[in-house]
Amino acid sequence: MPQYSWLEAIEVTDEMLQQTDTRLPVIWISALDCTGCKEAFTRSFEPSTLDTMLNFISLEYSELLSAAGGYQVEEHKETILEKYKGQYVLAVEGGIPGSDEFLMIAGKSVREEIIHAAKHAKAVIAFGSCSAWGGISAAGLNPTHSADIRSIVPEDVPVALVPGCPPIPEVIIGTLLHVHFHGELPELDKKLRPKKFYQTTVHLTCHRKPFFDQKLFAESYDDEGARKGYCLFKLGCKGPTAFNSCEALGLDRCISAGFTCIGCSEKGFWDKGSFTGKKKK
Ligand code: SF4
Repeated sequence: MPQYSWLEAIEVTDEMLQQTDTRLPVIWISALDCTGCKEAFTRSFEPSTLDTMLNFISLEYSELLSAAGGYQVEEHKETILEKYKGQYVLAVEGGIPGSDEFLMIAGKSVREEIIHAAKHAKAVIAFGSCSAWGGISAAGLNPTHSADIRSIVPEDVPVALVPGCPPIPEVIIGTLLHVHFHGELPELDKKLRPKKFYQTTVHLTCHRKPFFDQKLFAESYDDEGARKGYCLFKLGCKGPTAFNSCEALGLDRCISAGFTCIGCSEKGFWDKGSFTGKKKK
C-alpha cells in the first residue's frame, strides 16, 4: 500500500490542478547519459506525462524528445533561454564530462551548453544518478573524468538532485510540478534531494518487510520463499541502505517484480557491485 500520494508529496490540491493557463518552460540537456531518464520521464502514470505536458510543463528542448532537430531546435533553445530568463527550469541528465572534448552537441561542448543554460535558470534539476553523483560514466577508472552537476553550476542557482537509474517517473514529474505550482524547488535534504521523495529507505516502506521482520527470506530467485514473496535480503537486496520512494509510492518497481533493490539512487552504486546480486551469508 502506498504511504503517501504524489499529490501529498508535492503539496498540490485538486483545485490547483484545474489551473492550466500557464506552463513551466523546461530545457532538458543530456550529457553522458543512456537516455533512460528521459524514457522514465515519458512513463509517468499518475500524474501522466501526457497530462503534465499538455497542462503544466512546456518541454522546449530535448535532443531526443523535441519534434524538430538540428539547427531549428538549437535556435529555439536559444530563443527560450533569452525569452524566459529566470523562469525556465534546466533539467540535466547524464554525467558531466571533465573536458570539452568528450561530448559535443550541435558542434558545441555540452559542458559549455549546460553552464550557459544554467546561468539564468530558475532552478537546475539533475535527473538520474549520473548527473546527481557522476554515475556510470564516473565509475571505475572514469576515463572521461565525469563529475556531478554541482561541479559546473554557479553557486547562486538553486540545484536539486533526483537520483535513480532511472529516477522514478512520478518523482521526475512531481519535482517539476512542484516548481510549476509553488514557484520553487521542493524542500531538499542535506544531499539536495527532494526531502519528501527521499526521506526513508526503501526497506522501511517495503511491502516485503513483514517477512524480513519474521526472518523469512528467499534463498534463491526460484525457491519456495521467492514464490511466496519472502524478503530478498539474502539475495543482496540494497533496500536497507537505499533512500528512495519506490515502495512508499506503492509503485511496481524492482522488488515487486521479484528482484532485489540495487540501490540505484545511492552515490557510487555502480562501483559497489550492486548488479552482482551477491548473496548474504
Ligand atoms: Fe528490505 Fe529488501 Fe527485504 Fe524489502 S526485500 S524488506 S527492501 S531487504
